[in-house]
Amino acid sequence: MAEEKIPYKIYLSEDEIPKQWYNVRSDMKTKPAPLLNPGTGQPMGYEDLRPVFCDELIKQELDNDTPYIDIPQEIQDFYKMYRPAPLVRAYCLEKALGTPAKIYYKFEGNNTSGSHKLNSAIVQAYYAKQQGLKGVTTETGAGQWGTALSMACAYMGLDCKVYMVKVSYEQKPFRREVMRTYGATVTPSPSMDTEVGRKINEAHPGTTGSLGCAISEAVEVATHNEGYRYVLGSVLNQVLLHQTVIGLEAKAALDKYNVVPDIIIGCAGGGSNLGGLISPFMGEKLRGERDYRIIAVEPASCPSFTRGVYAYDFCDTGMVCPLAKMYTLGSNFIPSANHAGGLRYHGMSPILSQLYDDGYLEAVSVEQTSVFEAAQRFARVEGILPAPESSHAIKVAIDEALKCKETGEEKTILFGLTGTGYFDMVAYGKFNDGEMNDYIPTDEELQKSFATLPKIG
Ligand SMILES: *Cc1c(COP(=O)(O)O)cnc(C)c1O
Repeated sequence: MAEEKIPYKIYLSEDEIPKQWYNVRSDMKTKPAPLLNPGTGQPMGYEDLRPVFCDELIKQELDNDTPYIDIPQEIQDFYKMYRPAPLVRAYCLEKALGTPAKIYYKFEGNNTSGSHKLNSAIVQAYYAKQQGLKGVTTETGAGQWGTALSMACAYMGLDCKVYMVKVSYEQKPFRREVMRTYGATVTPSPSMDTEVGRKINEAHPGTTGSLGCAISEAVEVATHNEGYRYVLGSVLNQVLLHQTVIGLEAKAALDKYNVVPDIIIGCAGGGSNLGGLISPFMGEKLRGERDYRIIAVEPASCPSFTRGVYAYDFCDTGMVCPLAKMYTLGSNFIPSANHAGGLRYHGMSPILSQLYDDGYLEAVSVEQTSVFEAAQRFARVEGILPAPESSHAIKVAIDEALKCKETGEEKTILFGLTGTGYFDMVAYGKFNDGEMNDYIPTDEELQKSFATLPKIG
């Protein structure tokens, strides 16, 4: 039988958008460690988390057993506005590289927020609305999460208060204005409106902020205002669950042509897109049905997996959030002003951390300049202008494809292209002018940060 020619884009029909999320925890022999109360060191249950998070989302956060969770009809309908996301066969990139490898990418940038974050934002806004809340608070780094949440809140008729890492607030005025256009209030963090913001400003005068600081502020505002809850765009189990629409669609598309990837690659900030992309494949791996090489890519400036420690840590700088067991650089770690703002978090998803510790995935760290070189190379042949975050995955996909060129192996590579880079043109400008540098923290700096980890067990 002649092999069917695989199209440039494999589209699914609207009916093939997933109707359930897949909970990879159900197939994990070692479950991710529970969140702990920072005061007592005890695991936090449903009632303990209710002041901070929406009820239904807490249930999803704590559910380690249900394999499939229904996607409410209203969310399925919202997904139809911008999904299914295309799965692209990168024929042009393959040709440019002269590689026998077959490269596919799942593109999540086809919505105004420009990234995969909308997949979870709409779910979190939906459950907040269902619970009768007035609004939600959150942090944003580069601004993709804040933008996505603003869109989702506008759709659901909810108030949205965003604490934006100061360096991004100043460097990315356009993202800020997109959020305001959708009706959100945007405050640079650390601000002087919260107790924790004032403390951080006092301890680190002139600080450009970090996700950890902004989270503390958003949590404080949620817990001090009636009818508000805090929502988070990554790291948490629930976010990873929502993002499995990426992997479920990618797998359904590949299955149509009986394509099985050998290597699956994604960038990792807090781990939500990577977790979402790999979940259905990881499920097969965990059940012993199939094997895949899975690679997490992180910036050398913020190397949680490759140089971090696996320990309980604070999720935020102000130490008000529950403790999570994760690969971490320490909640005091403030990474250099790397241009991939979405990858600047000090910790990593507890689910991915456990899978990494158990040897189910690999991690590599890459330097910023090489990431932009890969981004430019990709843009020139595939057309899409990628986000700096996404370009971390491109960099390693290209590296793997070039290895195939040396060995002559026809491996199939799948990577996640999480978003577009239109709001990152200052960074592209620095790269084009040859002014970009690579900051890598020293061991000494990391040791200093590890010394502040909470002592648990
Ligand atoms: C936020 C973001 C990331 C990183 O977040 P994860 O939770 O690790 O997926 C990657 N790419 C883009 C475009 C983002 O906006």
